[in-house]
Amino acid sequence: MRRIIPLLAFSLFVLGAVWHNGLAQPQPKQGRPPLGIEKVADDLFVIIGSGGNVGVLVTDEGVVLVDAKFEQDYEGIVAQVKSVTDKAVKYVINTHHHSDHSGGNTRFIEVAEIISHKNARANIVDKKQGGAPASLRPARITFTDETSVFLGGKEVRARYFGRGHTDGDVLVYFPAQRVVHTGDMMAGVTPLIDYPGGGSIVEWSKTIDAAMAALEFDKVIPGHGAVTNRAGLQTYRDNVVKLRTEIAALIRQGKTQEEVRAFLATQYPASYTNPNSLNNQWSLPGFMSELK
Ligand SMILES: [Zn+2]
Repeated sequence: MRRIIPLLAFSLFVLGAVWHNGLAQPQPKQGRPPLGIEKVADDLFVIIGSGGNVGVLVTDEGVVLVDAKFEQDYEGIVAQVKSVTDKAVKYVINTHHHSDHSGGNTRFIEVAEIISHKNARANIVDKKQGGAPASLRPARITFTDETSVFLGGKEVRARYFGRGHTDGDVLVYFPAQRVVHTGDMMAGVTPLIDYPGGGSIVEWSKTIDAAMAALEFDKVIPGHGAVTNRAGLQTYRDNVVKLRTEIAALIRQGKTQEEVRAFLATQYPASYTNPNSLNNQWSLPGFMSELK
């Protein structure tokens, strides 16, 4: 087993590095996987590959997107939308400010209206994400608690339930389809908490709990990773709370940041083995101060 575990840890790290590195800086154009599209409901799709998952609601009057990947994915996103409808993208709702979700704003702002939480806009304007492209454009329209887009007789509702991954995460709800796009409140095997961007692991579970109590949904589009269901989100939430309890116990025992990192690496090697991972740069120092 001793030989297998480091090998497994390294393999998971390589897999995890794909989107973790993508958050910090735009990915190079060479070697990027092509985008794909999957059906979530009759009129709702998800574009996968490169950056965050993009929700695509098709209506007779146009398309509403949730998130827009990186700037360089613009053509790829448009091509994937064209594969399911001849209607144009009219609105893009950003789940938060990170450039693997909002990077495409730079191109979509020429053809569509972009909407985000006011904190997500401020985080782009204030350049809260180190390494984000200077060209990144914030939304023109912002909201504080809730807003909806009504297009072609359909509704897309964006709601803010509080801090978590950042201080500007919204969950985007498709009421007729009973689907929610969580942004990076759910992403990968365990959430990245962007403390420099206003995130909090203590607030994260309160925010998820409020969202799950308020929204009636069956399917979940996470910020990164495969489409899941309500039970999948509940398990993910319970795992975060369990991990937080364990980390807090270690910190209160006087363990050092490196000792806490080593523990986290045994639980989530893809996120915490590499000392330079975003989880180690952003989440871990925040845990040490927030959970003591
Ligand atoms: Zn993010």
